[in-house]
Amino acid sequence: MKYPCGVIRDILPLYKDEVCSEESRGAVEEHLSECDECSEYYKELSDDRENIVIPEIEDHKADSLRAVKRRINRGVRVAVIIASVLLVICIILIGAMVTMRDMSERRTIEYNGSNITVSMKSEGLIATVRGTWYSGARIKTVHMEADGEVRLLKIFRLEDTEWDAFKTGKNKTYDLTIAYADMEADMVDAVYYYSGELNDDIFKGMGELPPEELAELLGKMTLLWEKSK
Ligand SMILES: [Zn+2]
Repeated sequence: MKYPCGVIRDILPLYKDEVCSEESRGAVEEHLSECDECSEYYKELSDDRENIVIPEIEDHKADSLRAVKRRINRGVRVAVIIASVLLVICIILIGAMVTMRDMSERRTIEYNGSNITVSMKSEGLIATVRGTWYSGARIKTVHMEADGEVRLLKIFRLEDTEWDAFKTGKNKTYDLTIAYADMEADMVDAVYYYSGELNDDIFKGMGELPPEELAELLGKMTLLWEKSK
């Protein structure tokens, strides 16, 4: 052996990386062919874990990272879809609730010129409302003194909801008895319809109003029926 083992081992890394001179290369190869210990050492050196194992680990890492990312992305997509669906359901529910609340709100049925009529029938004075089902009614009896005689007036107001009007056919009618034939119908002088707001205090207080104020209020009402003289 031309060179001692120590010298050969010093240049073995260079030989392995193929960066040594031809001369050194020849010397190393010659030594390795003769020295089992240095051959063994070279094998260990070549069995370079850094180059073989780490890239695998990196690859695995990268793969599992990508897999995790894919899972997260899928999770995010699913979450976004679920959230969107829930949001749409909430909006629909809130919309339906608001619509139902609005549609079920009591309101005065406005007199439109023909939707409410009053006529004397065999059973009494009957009010008929067309196109909506009335869910509330108020009838007020008022005595009004004018020109020395007392007149008996019936004032009424009907309530419905948007829903009542919506579900009722345009020509469907509903009756309300204002005064019964066997009681006071013959004594009633006039029937007025009150289209005003749902203020029951005004309605209740009508009987106690001074004549001028009552007359003013009646002027805002609709005279639907009057006893023929
Ligand atoms: Zn050697």
